[in-house]
Amino acid sequence: MYDKDNVFYKILQRQIPANVVYENDVCLAFHDINPTAKVHVLVITKGCFVNLEDFVENETPTNVQKFFQSVAHIAKKLKISESGYRILTNTGRDAGQEVNHFHIHIIGGERL
Ligand code: 5GP
Repeated sequence: MYDKDNVFYKILQRQIPANVVYENDVCLAFHDINPTAKVHVLVITKGCFVNLEDFVENETPTNVQKFFQSVAHIAKKLKISESGYRILTNTGRDAGQEVNHFHIHIIGGERL
């Protein structure tokens, strides 16, 4: 289950700084501290969800829709829509999920 003792919860609480690129009522987006490409932004939910399954099963459909619309909006804002990008989310041990607060990676800005 969700454990508030994670770095993204602390970023949401503004206890830890982050290089924020976008924020609305359902998400906060900021640059990954250890980018794997020229553009590597993390979009995290404002609500406390462990992973994709927790999010879609327990968040309202309206907020789920708004979150994914926000991801697309952020990619546009980052000016990588035309050149292209990858989105991914890691879930669980086999995926190597490091932070147990649901998030989407937006990766691009160069040929992947
Ligand atoms: P995942 O949980 O999907 O494996 O990835 C977690 C991501 O969070 C990693 O890409 C890692 O670099 C990033 N990350 C971990 N700690 C911090 C932090 O304190 N600040 C920021 N901006 N990113 C972080």
